[in-house]
Amino acid sequence: MKIVFATNNTHKLEEIRRMLRGSHQIVSLAEIGCHEDIPEEQDTLEGNALQKARYIKQHYGYDCFADDTGLEIDALGGRPGVYSARYAGEAKDSEANMRKVLAEMQGHSDRRARFRTVIALILGNEEHLFEGKVEGEILTARQGSAGFGYDPVFRPDGYDRSFAEMDPDTKNSISHRGEATRKLAAFLNATEQ
Ligand code: IMP
Repeated sequence: MKIVFATNNTHKLEEIRRMLRGSHQIVSLAEIGCHEDIPEEQDTLEGNALQKARYIKQHYGYDCFADDTGLEIDALGGRPGVYSARYAGEAKDSEANMRKVLAEMQGHSDRRARFRTVIALILGNEEHLFEGKVEGEILTARQGSAGFGYDPVFRPDGYDRSFAEMDPDTKNSISHRGEATRKLAAFLNATEQ
């Protein structure tokens, strides 16, 4: 069965394809000829993931899933949250985003934060949500250079390193996206005949 993943990120596509056995064929937006910007106008991760998945179902007719991820910092009232990619502006500049977070966190002793990923799946006329999260804290300065986004300023609980100091397999085994993706894969593998 063909299922669209509402992304063109090859890393995300590979990850889910590796986890699925059997008959599900995961295709990207480019592969169904979808080149427009899909609206993401909601103020929650769940809302955005559902909006993207519903857009594909409505305009292209395929079963599909879409994800949305945010970094939620307690001392900042859950920000940047759903605005993580554009926190310092439309340029989606990770360096500027981290600078803004580090500046806003100056002087805060409560540094609790989590990454949360929500995946919305539409199969036929049923909608399903899968969540993954990883708890941790915001460091006072960048550490490491691997990964992407806010990885250098996030240290997951139980580790003395930032995400940007981990090899990809270690990060995937504990990460928000890894957990949500494993839940999706388990569900799809179980729905197969
Ligand atoms: P997306 O929903 O996967 O596009 O993620 C939104 C934004 O959250 C990204 O642009 C990054 O800034 C941030 N982000 C998502 N996942 C991670 C991660 O694993 N590490 C660091 N930052 C992340």
